[in-house]
Amino acid sequence: MRNSIRALPMPTRSDSTSRAAFEFANGVIKRRPAPPPQAPSTITTCDGTRLRLDVAHILLIDDDDVDRERVKRYLGKTDLRHEIVDATSGDEALHRLSNEEFDLILLDYQLGDMTGFDLLRRLQRHEITRAPIIMITGGGDENLAVEALHQGITDYIPKRSLNADTLRIAAQNAMRLRDIERELESTQQRLLRLSMYDELTGLPNRWLFFDRLDQMIARAERQGENFSLFMIDLNLFKEVNDYHGHASGDRVLAQIGERLKQVARKCDTVARLGGDEFACLLANAHSDIELDVCASKLHASICQPISLGHTLVHVGAAIGIARYRTDGQDRDTLMARADAAMYSAKASHRRYVLFDEQHRDNRAVTPGCQSLREGIERGELYLEYQPQILLASTQVVGLEALVRWQSPTYGVLRPNDFIPIAESSGLISELTREVLTIGFEQLSMWRASGLVHPVSFNISARLLDDGEWIQWMLDEMRHQGLAPSDVILEITETAISSSNANQRKHLEELSDRGFQLSVDDFGTGFTSFKSIREWLPAEVKIDRLFVHDVKDGSSDASIIQSIVTLANNLGIRLVAEGIETQAEQDFLVRSGCECGQGFAIAPPMNAEDTTAWLTAKISSSETKH
Ligand code: C2E
Ligand code: MG
Ligand code: MG
Repeated sequence: MRNSIRALPMPTRSDSTSRAAFEFANGVIKRRPAPPPQAPSTITTCDGTRLRLDVAHILLIDDDDVDRERVKRYLGKTDLRHEIVDATSGDEALHRLSNEEFDLILLDYQLGDMTGFDLLRRLQRHEITRAPIIMITGGGDENLAVEALHQGITDYIPKRSLNADTLRIAAQNAMRLRDIERELESTQQRLLRLSMYDELTGLPNRWLFFDRLDQMIARAERQGENFSLFMIDLNLFKEVNDYHGHASGDRVLAQIGERLKQVARKCDTVARLGGDEFACLLANAHSDIELDVCASKLHASICQPISLGHTLVHVGAAIGIARYRTDGQDRDTLMARADAAMYSAKASHRRYVLFDEQHRDNRAVTPGCQSLREGIERGELYLEYQPQILLASTQVVGLEALVRWQSPTYGVLRPNDFIPIAESSGLISELTREVLTIGFEQLSMWRASGLVHPVSFNISARLLDDGEWIQWMLDEMRHQGLAPSDVILEITETAISSSNANQRKHLEELSDRGFQLSVDDFGTGFTSFKSIREWLPAEVKIDRLFVHDVKDGSSDASIIQSIVTLANNLGIRLVAEGIETQAEQDFLVRSGCECGQGFAIAPPMNAEDTTAWLTAKISSSETKH
């Protein structure tokens, strides 16, 4: 429907409405009075409503020349700015209406080739126009006009009451009604859009996504098709919001929504479920290879750097996948399983995880702080150790201690399942003391048996608020016959970059006391190279995000290369995390990265297995020599 508000002045399309210089009235030719000044863009209707006025484009349908002239004359006397197009038959009107849009139709009931009623029916049947229609009826046509009112005309004027006033009032009311209807319609559409689409990204929202999922299930059931549900949760989005502000966070979400849309095919659905959670329905994707390709593409598109004007940010994502039929056949099961797989991907720092039975209860494994407190007291925490090697020679250089919780209720839990609870409940201090106690004791036993590698411990940022534990740690080490140089303390880059003056004071104190400090998960936070140069840690650990599937010439490769250059120039030991393949290890050696750890070298192992692994490693290198 054409917008009724147009810029003025408009060319007059109908000659009959352009004002001639003379008029014939009462048998005398008189010069017309000068045309009135430009009419205002609004007028006040009889009930006081301000009506936005443009030039009303009116179709006058009447087979009688005299009647048409009469209507035009009356309209000319009103302050309604208008232009008139004539149609002298029902057919001509149909033709006009099919090719042009009008703001108002004035329709004579009696036409040569059909009645106004017939025309109305044909217009409606073919949905030709939505312009308001005023029917002009001769004597005896009124009853039919009333019937036509029921069929959708806006108003009717009996010919005997036709004059400038009745015509003006009817025309203004009809067009005002049309304006109100249009506004209502667009509000309704806006509401409908808001209720189904996410405003920020323009993607379907949770409700529309559910609807599409239901439809996909119905289709898959009927036609034996397959599809998969991907649940995507962004990593580090909170950090973007915290450091760059919510407007930047919004830009990141919009950008990621756009990228996901680009990667998905037309038959797929990409939605934003809320916050930093997205979901995709991928039609006909089911085999492991197909899912790997799709997940890798989606993941890679998210991980591309995002420009926020002056700075680039990187966010990552964890993707959980549930397959229709294999993992569930109804909406709730599929959603819950994709969610559980996504949590598993997050906890294990993997790009994506396909649901399987072991993830079934992932959501349920959220222990409370009371059970964690009891777990610590009952000695349910234990440590696994992951070896770190010199990548070129594979010589062991250290071990990273990773805490586990063997809970009788929840089974073996990984740190991501309970460290956040420990941090938010204040239990982190007790937990860390327990970890350090176990670790120091083990370290001292290894030292006694000739295995003299330093052990790295992960230290939560919350612990840096209070320096009291530093003295406790020194006492504990002395008790075990250890020196600060025997341990490395890992603090994540994110924790360092958001540290306050008090926390930095404690970091300095640790360094002054002779502890080696390591920046963990480097590349995922917002520490600038400059602050690394100022702070000079003993070690930097490249986050596994960059190591994963790294290839020559990729953006990850150039990031790794610049971290290597920085570390080498500053004499900082560099450790690459999460090395899963020989190809990744080879790349790192070529890049000059000194040390590394990962499943390709050795997984985290309990103390006993670590001892066996270390012993085997020593004897194999002795055999070589
Ligand atoms: P992190 O310090 O970056 O530890 C390395 C994580 O990567 C470990 O996960 C390890 O199991 C995993 N990993 C090792 N090799 C590979 C590999 O090749 N591929 C992949 N995908 N992953 C690999 P985990 O044990 O679940 O630990 C997660 C995080 O929990 C740690 O990340 C660390 O930040 C934190 N954490 C661990 N232990 C402690 C602790 O005692 N105290 C505190 N505050 N945090 C801890
Ligand atoms: Mg670590
Ligand atoms: Mg790490």
